[in-house]
Amino acid sequence: MNGVIVVDIQGDFTQLMSGSLAVPGTGLDYLNKINKAIDRIRSLGIPLWASQDWHPANHISFFTNHPGKKAFDLINLQGKNQILWPPHCVQGTPGAELLIEPASFQAVIQKGRDYRFDSYSAFQDDGGQETELDGLLKKQGIRTLIIFGIATDYCVRFSALDGLARGYKIRVIKSLCRGVDPVTSAEALKEIESKGTVILEDLDEFLNAGSKV
Ligand SMILES: [Zn+2]
Repeated sequence: MNGVIVVDIQGDFTQLMSGSLAVPGTGLDYLNKINKAIDRIRSLGIPLWASQDWHPANHISFFTNHPGKKAFDLINLQGKNQILWPPHCVQGTPGAELLIEPASFQAVIQKGRDYRFDSYSAFQDDGGQETELDGLLKKQGIRTLIIFGIATDYCVRFSALDGLARGYKIRVIKSLCRGVDPVTSAEALKEIESKGTVILEDLDEFLNAGSKV
C-alpha cells in the first residue's frame, strides 16, 4: 500500500509568501505544481499526510534565542551540530500556515513543538520523541512512502532516512522538492539513495510504473 507525505509546504519556507526562511524555487509555479500533484494523487485514491514545522517562539533552532549568534551559525547542541535558523514557522503566525489544503490529508503532522529540540524529520525530533506519523501509516498498512516538499537537504532528507529506518520503502520525487542549498541538496539525495531510497524525477515516473518502482 502506497502513501504520500508532503513536507513543510508553509509560508515561511516559500518565496511566494516572502517567508523568513524562503527556499529558492518556491514561487507560484512551484506551489501550482505541488497542488496539481496533490490533486492527482487524491484522484487515484492514494492517502496523503502533510508535515508542518510548528515551533514555539523560544525554539532552540532560532538564532535569536542565542545571544551573540547570527542566522546560519553552527553551534554544538548535545553533541550534534545545529544550524541556527532565522525564526520561522512560529505557532499561530501566518508564516507557519500550510499553503496546501489541510482537508486533502489524512492528518497534518506537526513537528518541532518542543522548544528544546529541532525536528527536521516528520517521524521524530532530535530528542527521540516520536510524532504520530509512524503509527498512522502502520494503521493504514502503508509500506511504500512517497515523499516530496521542502527542504530537500533537511526535512525531506531526515524524513526519508527515518522512514527507511522504520522499514518503509521510500521514493522521493525530485522535481517536487526544493532545497536550501544546491550542494547540500545534491549530497542529501545521494545519501538517501545510498541507503535505499529510489529517487524519481517526477510523479509520472512513479505512476507510470504502476507504482511498482
Ligand atoms: Zn524549523
